[in-house]
Amino acid sequence: MAPFDDSPPQGDLAGALPSPAAAQARLRQAEVVFDHCSEGILVADGDNRIRSVNPSFTRITGYSAEEVLGCDPSLLKSDRHGPEFFAGMWRAIEQEGRWQGEIWNRRKNGEVYPERLSITRVADDGGQVTEYISIFSDLSHDRAAEEKLRYQASYDSLTGLPNRALFVDRLAQELAHARREKHLVALLSIDLDRFRSVNDTGGHRLGDQLLQQAAGRLVEAVRETDSVSRLGGDEFSIIVTGLRHPRGAEVVADTVLAALSRPFLIDEHESHLSASVGISVYPPDCTTGEELLRNADTAMYRAKAGGRSRCVFFTEQMNNEAVERLALERDLRHALARHELLLHYQPQWDLRNGRITGAEALLRWQHPERGLIPPATFIPVAEESGLIVPVGEWVLHTACEQGRRWLGQVGAPSYLAVNVSSRQFRQDGFVDLVRRILADVGLPAQHLQLEITESMLMDDVEQTVAALAELRAHGVHLSIDDFGTGYSSLSYLKRFPIDVLKIDQSFVRHLAEDDDDAAIASTIIAMAHTLKKTVVAEGVEHLAQVRFLRGRKCDQAQGFYFSRPLTAKAWPIRPR
Ligand code: C2E
Ligand code: MG
Ligand code: MG
Repeated sequence: MAPFDDSPPQGDLAGALPSPAAAQARLRQAEVVFDHCSEGILVADGDNRIRSVNPSFTRITGYSAEEVLGCDPSLLKSDRHGPEFFAGMWRAIEQEGRWQGEIWNRRKNGEVYPERLSITRVADDGGQVTEYISIFSDLSHDRAAEEKLRYQASYDSLTGLPNRALFVDRLAQELAHARREKHLVALLSIDLDRFRSVNDTGGHRLGDQLLQQAAGRLVEAVRETDSVSRLGGDEFSIIVTGLRHPRGAEVVADTVLAALSRPFLIDEHESHLSASVGISVYPPDCTTGEELLRNADTAMYRAKAGGRSRCVFFTEQMNNEAVERLALERDLRHALARHELLLHYQPQWDLRNGRITGAEALLRWQHPERGLIPPATFIPVAEESGLIVPVGEWVLHTACEQGRRWLGQVGAPSYLAVNVSSRQFRQDGFVDLVRRILADVGLPAQHLQLEITESMLMDDVEQTVAALAELRAHGVHLSIDDFGTGYSSLSYLKRFPIDVLKIDQSFVRHLAEDDDDAAIASTIIAMAHTLKKTVVAEGVEHLAQVRFLRGRKCDQAQGFYFSRPLTAKAWPIRPR
C-alpha cells in the first residue's frame, strides 16, 4: 500500500493536522484504507504490543483482533529465520526508521508462509516511539505460481521426468564433474520402436499411458544417481555417471531393454514395446554435452537401422558416414534443378514367347564429381531428408512422359514400372498426384505400373488398402517388389489389390544350385498363380535360371541375362 509505505514516519497518521474538520476527514479516510486494504496491517505501540489489526491481517494470519491485541507481534514468528535476521531487522528500524523485506511467518493453523513486510517506526516530536506500523502481503500464491512455472520449465508434464532443458544442464554438470574426478559419463539415447503406430492405432490416451509406464520402468532400471529425462515424443535419455569402463553402459542399456520388453498392462490389455538404444561415452567420444548427445543419437539411429530392439555404441566411423551423408544430401537438393537425375529402363520379358512386356524405370544420379551414383546410395538419403517426395514426383513424371513417347512404337515396352518409396506413398495426395501426372502427360493409366514393397503394406493397412484400391480403380497396375524379403503371408496378400509379384533377386541368384532358394521361388510362383497374380523373377543372369523359371511356369523375367537397364535412347525402338 503506497500511502502507508511511502509516508514518512511523521506523516499523515501521526502528524499535526490543520483543522478539526480536515482532521476528521483525514481520519475517516485512514480508517477506510485500514479496513479495506488487501494488505495486512498491524499497528503496535512503542513497547511493541499489538494495538490494532485490520481485517486483511485476520484473513492472512487466521488470528482475530481479540486474539492478538496486547500480544507481541513475534507470535507470528516461524522458525525459518535465526536471531541474526531479527537483529538486522531491528537495527534497520532503529537506525533508518524502517525495514522492508520478505519474511516467513506462521499462521494460526501452523502453516508457514512467505510475506512481503514493511515495518515503519513512528515517533512523536520528542523522538519517543509511538507506533510500529507493519504492512504485509501474502506471497504464498505468487510463490506457488512461480514454483509451478519453474517446474514446467524443467519437467515434462506427462511423465514427471526432467525435460530437455534440465537434461542439458545436468549433462553439463556431470561432464564437468567427470572431468575433475576422471570418471566416465555415458549417455544412452533411447527411442521407442514403432511408437507412432501405437499412437495411430491405439489412440493418444493409450500412447500417453504407455509413455508414463515406460518412463517409470526406465527410472526403476537405473541407479538413483543416474538421471532419466524425456527429450520429446518417444525419446528418452539416461545419463550414467561414475563409470570406470564403457562396458558398464552396456549393462545399463541391457537392463533398460529388458525392462521395456516386459508386457505393459493398460486398461486390462497387454501392450508390447521395444526400444533402440544408442550409447556414447565421455571420454573419448566427445568434449561437449551437445556432441555427446549427437553421437548417442547417431548410434541410436544405427540401432534402429540394424533391426531395432538393440543397443549400439557410437564409433568415429559413424561420424564420417554422417558427414558423407550430409554432403550427399546437400548435393541432392540441387540435383533436380541442375538436371543431374536420369532414368534408365530395364526390359521385362515374357518367358513364354520371349517378347518384351514392360520396362522398369530405374533412377540414376549423374553427379558432377562423383560420377554415376546408383540409387542404393542416395535413395536412403532422399528418404530420410524428405527429398524423395520431389525426386519421386520427377521420376513419375519423367517415366510417364517416356511412356507417352513410346506409345504405339515397335519394340517399345507396353507399360513402365515405377518404384515408389514408402515416404512418397504416405504423402498426402499421392493418389491425386499420380492421376494428375497421367492426365498432364496424356498416358492412359494401364501403361503405368507402380512397384511398392512388402513393408509398405504392413504399416497402416486400412489406409494402404484404400489408396491401392483407388489407384487400381483408376486403371494403374500394382506390383510388390522384392517379394519374399518382408513378412507377407498368403492371407495378407489377399487383402491387397495387387497384380504382380516380383520375386526378389536373392532367391533367384542361386536358383539353379540351391535347393532352398529353388523351393522358395517355386512356392512363390505357385502361390501367386493361386491368387491369380503375375510373377516376375528379378535379377536373372544365367540361362540355367531361365530354364528353371520356365519349368515352373514363371510368367516374366528381368535381369542382365536379357538386358541391363538402358537409357531411353539405347532402346532399339522404331516408329511403326
Ligand atoms: P529394384 O526395384 O528391385 O530394382 C532392381 C535392381 O536390380 C536394379 O538396381 C537393377 O539394376 C538391378 N538388376 C536388374 N537385373 C539384375 C541382374 O541380373 N543382376 C543384378 N545383380 N542386379 C540386377 P538399381 O537400379 O541399382 O536399383 C536399386 C534399387 O533402388 C531398386 O531396386 C529400387 O528399390 C531402388 N530404386 C531405383 N529407382 C528408384 C526410384 O525411382 N524410386 C525409388 N523410390 N526407388 C528406386
Ligand atoms: Mg523395383
Ligand atoms: Mg526388386
